[in-house]
Amino acid sequence: MTRIADIEVIHIALPTRREHKWTGLTEPIGAYILVRMTGENGRVGWGEAPALKDWGGDFGRYFGESPATTRLVIERYLKPQVVGADALNIADLHRRMDAIIKGYPYAKAAVDMAAYDLAGRTLGVPVHVLLGGSVRDRIPVTHSIGLLPIDEAVAEVAKVAREGIRTIKIKVGVEPERDVEIVHKVRETVGPAVDLCVDANCGYASPHEAVRTIKAMEPCRLKYAEQPVEGIARVAEVARNIDTPVMCDESAWTARDVLEIAETKVIDIVSIYTTKPGGLYRAMEVAAVAQAARLRCNVNGSVETGIGNLANLHLAAAAPAVTLSCVVPVSTPAEAQSGQVGGIYYRDDLIRTGFALKDGAVAVPTGPGMGIDVDEAKIARYRVRD
Ligand SMILES: [Mg+2]
Repeated sequence: MTRIADIEVIHIALPTRREHKWTGLTEPIGAYILVRMTGENGRVGWGEAPALKDWGGDFGRYFGESPATTRLVIERYLKPQVVGADALNIADLHRRMDAIIKGYPYAKAAVDMAAYDLAGRTLGVPVHVLLGGSVRDRIPVTHSIGLLPIDEAVAEVAKVAREGIRTIKIKVGVEPERDVEIVHKVRETVGPAVDLCVDANCGYASPHEAVRTIKAMEPCRLKYAEQPVEGIARVAEVARNIDTPVMCDESAWTARDVLEIAETKVIDIVSIYTTKPGGLYRAMEVAAVAQAARLRCNVNGSVETGIGNLANLHLAAAAPAVTLSCVVPVSTPAEAQSGQVGGIYYRDDLIRTGFALKDGAVAVPTGPGMGIDVDEAKIARYRVRD
């Protein structure tokens, strides 16, 4: 047993490399809540809630969490339940958190990640061992270009393709003609060897509009089309009418959602996050249901800092259902940045050692806990006082 002695909630804001936007996003990425969990053994675990108030599930089924609400939920409700509990008993931590307040999966995920990190460091094993072991030791990186003007997007994809990125995600869902044009321009730029996918973030007005738009993109060979419209039944309607596989993201938060998605029989892919279901423990449940239903998965996220990204990498390593390239940053502190753009969204990061992009993939850390130490000087530098 390793009792949790304290939890500190820290709001940070990392400087971005460029503006990174998607349909529905209303504030800059990178202003997130961290959890610093101290064990009675003196060891420290870190977790992150990349909380975005405008990010939620279908038709209000799940809702936004901001840094302010995440801080309130953790400090007022979760912390009193978790301090004194056993960091090695993750099942009990979730039982305690779910008993005191319904919902708020991002707040719970930050606590869950910190507990896994603390537990792994205490036991001397990497987090993916606590999740059941690793089925892969390298994670292919999908580079997301966000909603950029077409000329900037073309310049960026040319560079990341030269750097070895093998999958590019193009944010769409804005205006069908613009979306079709950008996909064609990106395909012309990167050639046939790079996989392309599009993510509309529910942005198309109707299944009909989505079908018409994606069909016009299909000559460019899309790996998948992510969340073209809002709602599982409406996404299924799109899937029935195009050849490209369709992925649910906003529609796929929990294991229960994945059951519903499997029942449509036409949706092929779900996007798993550490955060949407409320932490790594729950994300492995989501992955298990997806595996049973033979749905393919990637690990996707909200452009986490290195802290949240580490959790995503351990999840991607451990979940057998995750066979697709993952939208994980190549988290790199400023001192180690060299002008590389592939997977780089921030000008600095909070972890001491950066990841290395090699052959379009990053290695899963093998050290105890999350496997890379947090740089507390960086935490102090980027801390937001609120
Ligand atoms: Mg998405």
